[in-house]
Amino acid sequence: MSAEIAGNVWQLAKNNGVHMPVIRIFCATRFMGRFSSAISRRVKTVLEKRKVDILENSRVQKVTDTEIALVSGETYDTDFTFMAAGVKPSPIFAESGLPVGPDKGLLVNQYLQSVAYPQIFGGGDCIYFQNQPLDKVGVYAVRQNPVLLHNLMAAMEEKALMPFDPGPQYLLVFNLGGGKGVLKKKNIVFGGRLAFTIKHYIDTKFMKKFQAIEK
Ligand SMILES: Cc1cc2nc3c(=O)[nH]c(=O)nc-3n(C[C@H](O)[C@H](O)[C@H](O)COP(=O)(O)OP(=O)(O)OC[C@H]3O[C@@H](n4cnc5c(N)ncnc54)[C@H](O)[C@@H]3O)c2cc1C
Repeated sequence: MSAEIAGNVWQLAKNNGVHMPVIRIFCATRFMGRFSSAISRRVKTVLEKRKVDILENSRVQKVTDTEIALVSGETYDTDFTFMAAGVKPSPIFAESGLPVGPDKGLLVNQYLQSVAYPQIFGGGDCIYFQNQPLDKVGVYAVRQNPVLLHNLMAAMEEKALMPFDPGPQYLLVFNLGGGKGVLKKKNIVFGGRLAFTIKHYIDTKFMKKFQAIEK
C-alpha cells in the first residue's frame, strides 16, 4: 500500500508541476516483506528511479504533525504523513464477545455466518473465514456479496444457505502512478505500462456498473 501511495503522490506532484516533495517510505523490516522479491524488486526499481527514498529496517515509534521518530532514535521532519501499516478488523467483535479469528476478525463458517450466532453474517475485511485465511482485498468482498445477500434472505425465509467459495487465485496489480504497475498472477510477474493498463481496464469496467445515469 505504501508503494501505491508513494507512486501516486509522485504522480500528483508531477502532473501539477509543483515542487517535487521528498517522498520517504519507512518499513519496519523489508520493503513489501509480505510479497516475493520478484514483486518488491520491480516495485522498488520504479520508485527509486523517481527518487522515492525507501528506508528498510526503520521501525517508526512516534508520528506527530511535523515529525516521524524511529525506534533507532532518528527523526525526520514531515509535512504530510500517510499511514499504511496494514488492515486490522475493528475490535468491536471481540469486545462484543463474538468468536473471532487470530486477526480479531468476526469468525465465520463456510456460509459467512458467525460460528456462534447463526443470525449474524459478515464479509469483507472484517471477517476471518474459518476454512482458510483470506487476504484483505476487495476481490473477496465482491465475491462474497451475492453469497451474503442470498444467505441473509435464506436465513429469514428458513431456506438452504449457500457456501462461499473463495475461487481461483486473484489477479494482483499494484498501481504505482505515472501509468505504471506491477502485476502478479500465479507464477507470472511483470511490471510496466501493460500491467497498469490491465488494472485500469478491469477497475474502470467494474466501476462503470455502479455509475448513476445522468441526463
Ligand atoms: C488505497 C487502497 C487501494 C486498494 N486497492 C485494491 C485493489 O486494487 N484491489 C482490491 O481487490 N482491493 C483493494 N483494496 C482493498 C479493498 O479496498 C478492501 O479490501 C475492501 O474495500 C473491503 O471492503 P469492505 O466492505 O469489507 O470494507 P470497507 O470498504 O473498508 O468498508 C467498511 C465500511 O464500514 C464503515 N465502518 C467501519 N466501522 C464502522 C462502525 N463502527 N459503524 C458503522 N460503519 C463503520 C467504514 O466507514 C466503511 O465505510 C485497496 C485498499 C486501499 C486502502
